[in-house]
Amino acid sequence: MWYRPQGFKLGGDGRAQLRVRQLSAGYGSFEVIRNLSLDVRAGLTVVLGPNGAGKTTLLKALTAQIPFRGEVLLDGDDMPEKTHEIVQAGVALVPEGRQLFPQMTVRENLELGAWLSPAAARSSRLETVLADFPKLRERSTQLAGTMSGGEQQMVAIARAMMSAPRLLMLDEPSLGLAPRMVDELLAIVRRIADAGVTVLMVEQNVRKALAIADRGYVMESGALVAHGDARLLVRSSVIREAYLGDADGPGAKAAVRGSGQAAGRTQ
Ligand code: ATP
Repeated sequence: MWYRPQGFKLGGDGRAQLRVRQLSAGYGSFEVIRNLSLDVRAGLTVVLGPNGAGKTTLLKALTAQIPFRGEVLLDGDDMPEKTHEIVQAGVALVPEGRQLFPQMTVRENLELGAWLSPAAARSSRLETVLADFPKLRERSTQLAGTMSGGEQQMVAIARAMMSAPRLLMLDEPSLGLAPRMVDELLAIVRRIADAGVTVLMVEQNVRKALAIADRGYVMESGALVAHGDARLLVRSSVIREAYLGDADGPGAKAAVRGSGQAAGRTQ
């Protein structure tokens, strides 16, 4: 097991909130996201959608890696524009593809996650992270590039936790992993949210992501088409028809009819 079964020691204050209004972003004249509004509250929010829907572009805009129009507020204040200020504001991103330093050890990769913190804070965070991820302690001297994809994803998440974030964003963490590793990884993400860190996760693994999430948004072609409580969303026709291939299953129509605002189509 990759995580401490008793729950995580690392945690946030549970209050970080992200408010996004009328967000538009893209690459040059190619606008990928148009007038997108969403709210990320305490707990675990997932953004689902097919390839090319604009999920990564959304996370890039939220973390100011690309220019955008619209409003991105972290606890009521504008999201800072510089990476180090975003980290200092308590936001961490686990990027698509992990982006570890392959020639550095696990421990060195983790330490880089707290590069803005004083040495004393860095070493105490490292101890906490290694307590939360005991297998990483066993692997601390292994070169990151020699680890399996799933193991590297664990390092990437642990590295993000080294900055003690209040808001953690993850870009398709389950991509390319074996089913058992996906389950462990999503269990870790749930635990991070339970420990008081607000989590925003982009995923293509719709069924598994909604099973652990509190709330979900569905994104298609740069716009949100549905949103709501994860338990209702998984039973909605939008999700069942487009992603789960079982629109006629029991409860589908009742869930849509009865969901009202909770799992409605986004206007
Ligand atoms: P996936 O699940 O495949 O990662 P996604 O939902 O994350 O997809 P994005 O990566 O945000 O989608 O891509 C949305 C659109 O933006 C796609 O049409 C893609 O080709 C385009 N795009 C992404 N990055 C760039 C870039 N650097 N320059 C130009 N276009 C880009």
